[in-house]
Amino acid sequence: MMVQSPLFSNAIKEVNMNQNEAQQHLETSKLMGVSFLPVGNSIPDNKTLEDIRIDHDNNCPHCTTTTGFTQTVFGVGNSNADLMFIGEAPGSEEDVQGIPFVGAAGQKLNQIIEAIGMNREDVYIANVLKSRPPNNRTPLPTEVAACGPYLQQQIDCIQPLVIVTLGSPATKYILQTETGITKLRGSWGDYKGIPVMPTYHPAYLLRNYTKETRQEVWSDIKQVQEKLIS
Ligand code: URA
Repeated sequence: MMVQSPLFSNAIKEVNMNQNEAQQHLETSKLMGVSFLPVGNSIPDNKTLEDIRIDHDNNCPHCTTTTGFTQTVFGVGNSNADLMFIGEAPGSEEDVQGIPFVGAAGQKLNQIIEAIGMNREDVYIANVLKSRPPNNRTPLPTEVAACGPYLQQQIDCIQPLVIVTLGSPATKYILQTETGITKLRGSWGDYKGIPVMPTYHPAYLLRNYTKETRQEVWSDIKQVQEKLIS
């Protein structure tokens, strides 16, 4: 695959020309001793969440080619959040409302957030996959590989102080590991320098509502609270 230099791609963006015209423009500019081209205001250097959402909805190799879902579910919350939660994929209620974690698992997540003195508006919530998999099945590795980079852009844009991954698919993707959530939960991981706390998915917690699982999630989330105030 040919890699475009930033100079070349900026030239295309700047004057809205096609690739041949841009190449000619670049050659001419170089001959004239121009070693850089200014970037226009209409193309921000740093993408906003809205830029990423539009890019995702138009170009995601998974979400633009799969069917059977109502709408994409991009993410919700504070674009400057210190704390970001990452789940797996939208479920049926999220698919209808277009908002992550609004079903039963979402109610449980709200309680977890409130337990550390915050609320949904303080944090940012997103999923690895932005369209609902058929019958709520676990996302396939190919789907995650195609859609996941947009989540990475969301994280790069928000720059949270702490990330909490909810369940196995989110943890595996963010920490690039094959180790299961039972082993990883409760210990800090790292994503590009951001501390990551893996914990159980709220839906798993609801299905296994024992004293032990509740204590485990509480212990994980207390570590998050301590990290945020440290
Ligand atoms: N489960 C998830 O992983 N994400 C949602 O948005 C809802 C349920």
